[in-house]
Amino acid sequence: MKPIVFIDRTVPSEVETRIAEHCVVDKWEGASPIPRELLLEKLANANGLLTAGSKVDAELLTHAPHLKAVSSISVGYNHFDLDAMKQRGVIGTHTPHVLNNTVADLAFALILGTARRVAELDRYVKEGKWKSGVGSSLFGQDVHHAKLGIIGMGRIGEAVARRARFGFEMEVSYFNRSRKPEAESLLGVRYQELNELLKDSDFVVMLAPLTPETTRLIGRDQFQLMKPSSIFINISRGQTVDEEALVEVLQSGAISAAGLDVFDNEPIPADHPFLKMDNVLTLPHIGSATTATRFDMAMLAAQNLVNALTGQSPANIVAELQ
Ligand code: NAP
Repeated sequence: MKPIVFIDRTVPSEVETRIAEHCVVDKWEGASPIPRELLLEKLANANGLLTAGSKVDAELLTHAPHLKAVSSISVGYNHFDLDAMKQRGVIGTHTPHVLNNTVADLAFALILGTARRVAELDRYVKEGKWKSGVGSSLFGQDVHHAKLGIIGMGRIGEAVARRARFGFEMEVSYFNRSRKPEAESLLGVRYQELNELLKDSDFVVMLAPLTPETTRLIGRDQFQLMKPSSIFINISRGQTVDEEALVEVLQSGAISAAGLDVFDNEPIPADHPFLKMDNVLTLPHIGSATTATRFDMAMLAAQNLVNALTGQSPANIVAELQ
């Protein structure tokens, strides 16, 4: 008998076809996210789930007694309750590598966008305020040859470092729990303790995964170490940062700007202070969102799921569940 798979969001037809070659497929076709209750109902008979952010916790697993594998179309897997999945022996997979360059490109969109005030000055032009040459109040800061600090120098961090070193001739340092001597010599980057990195950098890019250890890793004390001219970029997960503290340091001028692809609550509430601040560039969590990369991620996730359900070991089981 073929395994039963539930797909909880819209995916390209090729992705569904790949799964349907080996499995019976049921799917959510609504334009908005599937309501939690319906998802739980749909999982009553499912052996596999293809998702990208649905919380896979003890509650979900209780409603899914036949579930063997969950495949996420994402590299981050903070929506997996790893203990609950381990206890039930449910395989969890993700989609590393295929999105590295796309997410690194977006990190640079945020770096350049904040440093050169791109969105703010686009509004300035469109609102008819461009009457003569711009004065120094609208000047930005240089990215080339500046100091970049990367928190979480993994697959994507290295792609950001490569762009920074060889494209913009930046000085790059990084903070991880462990050093990466190979990256240090290949990319010409140096290791710094977190506080030193925060003090020295002109741009700080947060790229560590969201874990209990990284939750609110960057708060008031850490922001206060940064230079008043420095810019903070978050492309990992909103909860790695204390947002209230970030609002405060941006308003007080303790740092100069922020470029944010991720937020504590997504979508960001309409009354959030960030939305009224010219020195904050906001994006709707689009790090990997190009047509080609989202297709590759979904295909890889489909293959991971098929492998897990047909007795072949998937290549991308998340580290904690291996
Ligand atoms: P990765 O290869 O696992 O790299 C993560 C790095 O973070 C590792 O080098 C790790 O090094 C470091 N790290 C882990 N825990 C840490 C801690 N407590 N303190 C300091 N460093 C820590 O992951 P990746 O593929 O580069 O992806 C990174 C993250 O980017 C994902 O988890 C996801 O949240 C985010 N992301 C966001 C988007 C978006 O759309 N905005 C898209 C893709 C990914 P050590 O183990 O040595 O500490």
